[in-house]
Amino acid sequence: MSSALAPDKASAGSPPLSPAGESAGVEPRATKINLLGLDRLGMENYFREIGEKPFRASQLLQWIHQRGVIDFGAMTNLSKALRNRLEESCEIRPPTIVVDQLASDGTRKWLMQVDATNRIEIVFIPEEGRGTLCVSSQVGCALACTFCSTAQQGFNRNLEAAEIIGQLWSAQQALGPDTRITNVVLMGMGEPLLNFNNVVAATNLMLDDFAYSLSKRRVTLSTSGVVPALDRLAEVTDISLAVSLHAPDDALRDELVPINRKYPLRELLPACKRYVGEGRRKVTMEYVMLDGINDTPAHARALVKLLARVPAKINLIPFNPFPQARYRCSSPEAIARFSALLQEGGLITTTRKTRGEDIDAACGQLVGKVQDKSRRHIRLQAIAP
Ligand code: SAH
Repeated sequence: MSSALAPDKASAGSPPLSPAGESAGVEPRATKINLLGLDRLGMENYFREIGEKPFRASQLLQWIHQRGVIDFGAMTNLSKALRNRLEESCEIRPPTIVVDQLASDGTRKWLMQVDATNRIEIVFIPEEGRGTLCVSSQVGCALACTFCSTAQQGFNRNLEAAEIIGQLWSAQQALGPDTRITNVVLMGMGEPLLNFNNVVAATNLMLDDFAYSLSKRRVTLSTSGVVPALDRLAEVTDISLAVSLHAPDDALRDELVPINRKYPLRELLPACKRYVGEGRRKVTMEYVMLDGINDTPAHARALVKLLARVPAKINLIPFNPFPQARYRCSSPEAIARFSALLQEGGLITTTRKTRGEDIDAACGQLVGKVQDKSRRHIRLQAIAP
């Protein structure tokens, strides 16, 4: 596995006194500190650092995230002197939207420019009474899940905290004040637990009463199962957890989700239990339905057995095809039969509705524009020409 598997070392909430970004592979692009990515602790530390009262943090968070103001001059409850000072050394720089697409079912997809060469995709899914934003954590992905098109793009770099929360900020601006983002899922491009500190800072902002004020039940991190990072996550936050399970045994999961070779099911499932603890919370197990691969009654029975003592519910995801995909989606009958067997086995099971198909906005179809630094596409061509 590539070195991109090592979680970055930057610490969440620390003042970004070296604005270049400490994580490996991130090149300095700005000389000013981008305040967009500072969570409360990071913001308080920053103000302390420059000799200001930490309560300024709440004011800044409200201006930026609740009122959408990024011009220091308009922050009227700050003194003129402080505004000038912030203007000199800081900026509030969200990612820019370069393409805005609307699907026939109301799903909306944006292509956002994050630097000169890379773009990421973000999807908004409106439903009765709620609006879910699917955000990305990395430019591309270093993992090689065989059914995911992001994997084919290779990996470029981690997104900074400002670029992660910036997706929410820019999406909310584009949607306007009448459409609220009520839920956020970290299910876009990338493996969030391999960009730990930036993801934690961004999710802290999602939950913060002075920023987006979302409940922990409405912010969901989806992971392929980076076990050590899962335990670290439990120490710093209690957002909801989804795990890309996709197979009832190691042999098949090794193939579909190759990180399983490093963290097999006997390590992953206890880590899931530790994450949710003793309460009533459950981990959502994501299971992509692949025709003839993982969708037989035998797989369903094995899954019931595997999850018998895990506080889990299952979300079946019809496979979304992409060019060069080597799988087909299970038939609606196979999905219905699979779901029925899981429910008979006592598992709460839902089937994800595919949304935004006509604009390639469905799960696993987000590709953006990634300048691959991992040379994955070359390796993949060599394996599967
Ligand atoms: N790396 C994280 C988050 C990104 S994937 C993870 O692995 O969970 C978000 C969800 O979309 C995962 O459950 C993933 O397995 C699913 N997915 C990926 N490709 C897909 C495809 N082609 N069709 C349907 N779901 C897919």
